[in-house]
Amino acid sequence: MTAHSARAAAFVANEARMHWHDTALWHVRSKRDRAAASVPEWEELRTQAAALKAHTVSRLAEYLEAFERNALRLGAVVHWASTPDDHNRAVLSILEERGLKRLVKSKSMLTEECHLNGFLEARGIEVVDTDLGERIVQLARETPSHIVLPAIHKKKEEIGELFHEHLHTAAGASDPKYLTEAARGHLREKFLAAEAGLTGVNFAIAETGGFVVCTNEGNADLGASLPRVHIASMGVEKLVPRAADLAVFLRLLARSATGQPVTTYTSHFHGPRAGGELHLVIVDNGRSALLASEAHRRALSCIRCGACMNTCPVFRRSGGHSYDATVPGPIGSVLAPSREPGRYAGLPFASSLCGSCDDVCPVRIDLHQQLLTWRHELGERRLTPAPKRAAARLGSFVLARPWLYRALGWLGRAALRWVPRPVLALVAGPWARQRELPPAPRLSFRAEFGRRRVRP
Ligand code: SF4
Repeated sequence: MTAHSARAAAFVANEARMHWHDTALWHVRSKRDRAAASVPEWEELRTQAAALKAHTVSRLAEYLEAFERNALRLGAVVHWASTPDDHNRAVLSILEERGLKRLVKSKSMLTEECHLNGFLEARGIEVVDTDLGERIVQLARETPSHIVLPAIHKKKEEIGELFHEHLHTAAGASDPKYLTEAARGHLREKFLAAEAGLTGVNFAIAETGGFVVCTNEGNADLGASLPRVHIASMGVEKLVPRAADLAVFLRLLARSATGQPVTTYTSHFHGPRAGGELHLVIVDNGRSALLASEAHRRALSCIRCGACMNTCPVFRRSGGHSYDATVPGPIGSVLAPSREPGRYAGLPFASSLCGSCDDVCPVRIDLHQQLLTWRHELGERRLTPAPKRAAARLGSFVLARPWLYRALGWLGRAALRWVPRPVLALVAGPWARQRELPPAPRLSFRAEFGRRRVRP
């Protein structure tokens, strides 16, 4: 059992939660399908987005330099960070040099990747996540389980208890409207008291030096506008060459993520606000290594819409925390081994390779092929878990002998027919127990193994 499958087994053990999680995400996936179907040129948009990203990644250094030049011209300060520690120290020094102690933060998976909150809190800075889902997991001292829906693993009753403890809402209250209002009041106080605001970056435009942040709650706008200091953290892969390219990505992003035509707030930043400061922290953290890998560089095209998670049958049933990575799901299983292959060697196996992730990815990343390639590469490096290697050897032995393959198939069907169902359910693993056993098949040894005449 890999670390992922052990954690997945724990998630699946709570059947009610597992079914609820599965249904909630499938609902988002269905909304995405309807939104995509409403755009006649959807497939063309995906092709354009894939080509734009491939082009940008192929000239990344050039576009990064152009972006820096233009951002400086607009009055931003640019900081380069090759590691999470560089990123965190850059943010800390911006705050410390100005004596700032209170930071509000909108959703940024990059800061999760860099573990910024713990780093700053250990140095006396108050960090408040202002995205509602992020605030929920922050109060619960958990990590996001999904990149777009960070608290999707939590039921409203659990959120009610959490808010009762931290925000003093009424005991037993679980009405989402009431809880959201309470969070809104609580966060409004934090916004007004904040001394600096940190946002992520969805798209950075090389030709203008500006960038775009997409949210549904307007929290990035408040965080970037109320305090005097705005810090924006971005990965090097967030670039698009021209402002005109945004039209392609903005039409794809929200529809793929939540089924909305566009995010409620799509905010463009071009330099600091009047009297304020804008700091851009541009982070590598393994992205250059990914760029150097011909097999995996397409993963840099990801626009973090989360669609591959919502559709993945493994993610929906095993929960985001089972991946134990900042970015979970199919794209996370491609990205994580590139940073820590030993630790994440089990993740490329957390997939049925059904290809549904490829079908929904707005930038056409060949996710299931990437996962397959990782299985091969990790196997070559002998990092694949031993049971997986043994199973692969056994599979190879059986598949090389068609008679043995047919015999085992016949035995499997015989077991379905003759072994009582409750006994089969006992030997099934947690995953298999969620699935209905197929009906007992008709068996014919003669049909399976009888001599086959080959007509000339
Ligand atoms: S890999 Fe594709 S589907 Fe998955 S999060 Fe990235 S852009 Fe979205």
